[in-house]
Amino acid sequence: MICQVAPAVRVAIAECFGLAPGATSPGQLVEALRRLGFDLVFDTVFGADLTIMEEATELLLRLQAQLEADVGVDETVRQQHSQQTSQQQQHHHQRYEPLPMFTSCCPGWIGLMEKSYPDLIPYVSSCKSPQTMLGAMAKTYMADKAGISPNDICMVSIMPCVRKQGEADRDWFCLGGRGGARDVDHVITTAELGNILKERGINLPELPEGDWDQPLGLGTGAGVIFGTTGGVMEAALRTAYELVTQERLPRLTFSEVRGLEGIKEAEVRMVPPPGSKFATLLETHTAAPAPPPPPPAEAKAQATDEAGTAGSGSGSGIGTSPGAGAGVGTGAGAGALQWDGGATFVADDGRRGLRLRVAVANGLGNAKKLISKMQSGECKYDFVEVMACPAGCIGGGGQPRSTDKQIALKRQQALYGLDERSTIRRCHENPAVQAAYKEFLGEPCSDKAHELLVSSLFVSSFVYLLEQGIRAGLER
Ligand code: SF4
Repeated sequence: MICQVAPAVRVAIAECFGLAPGATSPGQLVEALRRLGFDLVFDTVFGADLTIMEEATELLLRLQAQLEADVGVDETVRQQHSQQTSQQQQHHHQRYEPLPMFTSCCPGWIGLMEKSYPDLIPYVSSCKSPQTMLGAMAKTYMADKAGISPNDICMVSIMPCVRKQGEADRDWFCLGGRGGARDVDHVITTAELGNILKERGINLPELPEGDWDQPLGLGTGAGVIFGTTGGVMEAALRTAYELVTQERLPRLTFSEVRGLEGIKEAEVRMVPPPGSKFATLLETHTAAPAPPPPPPAEAKAQATDEAGTAGSGSGSGIGTSPGAGAGVGTGAGAGALQWDGGATFVADDGRRGLRLRVAVANGLGNAKKLISKMQSGECKYDFVEVMACPAGCIGGGGQPRSTDKQIALKRQQALYGLDERSTIRRCHENPAVQAAYKEFLGEPCSDKAHELLVSSLFVSSFVYLLEQGIRAGLER
């Protein structure tokens, strides 16, 4: 019997005992779960860190492939990039995956997208969610180490919503080649766990600290903030920035995507080091044929931007975005969204940089508004986070009920506090995740990672693209 605990659960469980969010520690929760009878207690934050490794890498591979396609790089440059993209990642690099990319870890958002926006399936990240990634790793990587059959493991997730049970029940979240064991067998919510603990007489606030079990019990501060709106984006940016620039982020806090506003935007400026595949690509991008003239409003934004970035000589960094970034290039993705070919700038030293434009939708109502603006071309982004519940998972339907109007803010502050007190705050610096890649997965987006960590929603996207192609052919 193994359980895993989502980030949002650890701050809200204290409320089941009449205390403020975050008043009990994650270690006390581990001890409580052990007293309930679980053999091992793992941290879904490990799964969140793994999700970021896969998702940030997927975003960069999509960007690379799209930039190459949109600027029409010549075959020599393309071959050079292919050599710089490892064999294991070639399948991602070569297949057609459109931008902007949407996050995939919230089943509430996935449900809306499948029902109301099937055109967007190809735009959603192919990554499984943290709970199913951790389940798959427990029943393969950990099971192999311990010499246990996956079918002898029961994985229980403690989650902030019942939608996570629906996610775990989907046919494709299982180990196809290993007897079909499910990634996650059962889900219980924070409020249900609070009731169970009280029924069993386990008084959480009085418990000593327990230790997470390894190897899947170590998580970073970046993975912890997955539990609130903007947290997935912030964690992804911390990793994507350092992957592209190969430099330390000037600051870890992306205040632009924090808080409880409905729609948040940010822009991250990244200058790749000379000789890297993004550096050569951006040089080619500069030399690409001029794009057709943009509409008047966009032309004004573009003129302002080009003057501003060249004149001020901005380097890598983080800033707010006006939303409709001034893109260069003409590429258009499949389906209902248009991607403008990526936005670039010139740094102090004359090197070309990439402006990564991101947005966060807090709740499904805001997601609909944001998608509508993206469909009309009013807003252009490269990466979009959507969480169905207002405030993200801390506001999930399975969290303890509260009459406190400030409860979302208090839970959010408790999560940010856990991040600030973490010794490791970047997903790619999690030594347990690094060991998992070294010993088992190979590297992010490898074939092995693809087998275990990719959702079959991704298969749906291929079916969708195939249908589109057939339809277009028939119309011709
Ligand atoms: Fe569940 Fe809500 Fe979190 Fe989505 S945002 S995973 S629906 S708690």
